[in-house]
Amino acid sequence: PEVAQLVASRLLDVPDFPKPGVVFKDLMPLFADGEAFRAVIDGIIAYHGPESFDTVAGIEARGFVLAAAVAYATGVGVVPVRKAGKLPRATHSASYALEYGEATLEVHQDAFTAGHRVLVLDDVLATGGTAEATLDLVERAGGTVAGFTVLLELGFLEGRKRLAQRPVHALLTV
Ligand code: 5GP
Repeated sequence: PEVAQLVASRLLDVPDFPKPGVVFKDLMPLFADGEAFRAVIDGIIAYHGPESFDTVAGIEARGFVLAAAVAYATGVGVVPVRKAGKLPRATHSASYALEYGEATLEVHQDAFTAGHRVLVLDDVLATGGTAEATLDLVERAGGTVAGFTVLLELGFLEGRKRLAQRPVHALLTV
């Protein structure tokens, strides 16, 4: 609840971004506030428990920031889930539909030690396409999904429904 309020108080609604009619939730004020940023990172770790995961994965690009901080604080490694074409070695890739067109995410095939429990982080859960593709990639690369956590869930988009059976957690749901 306290962390939820922190997220709520440090997010900005940006109308018509990235296109007309969409209200983008900008969490950069939260990231930029050192005390608030530390509190949300500590909140993520406390929710899961530092012993519940072996690796952290971040979704490009804001998820990288969260994943790196959680990894550093808990002494585990960090793995990037990237947009297509960015990773240099053999990858698994997963594509998903956007409103117009398609997006593809990739992870290195050797990114995870078999059976390692992976905590996946991103800033926002919207329609769930990004998360669904990412959790699929983690499993195809040999990891076990320990959890998927976001700072903010846009509940009205029902992304959580696409992630049924998955341990989804949001610090704040609007
Ligand atoms: P989804 O695939 O769930 O529709 O979209 C989630 C992905 O798009 C996340 O990687 C997230 O960073 C980004 N995203 C979608 N909508 C927003 C938004 O309103 N604010 C922010 N900060 N990211 C968003």
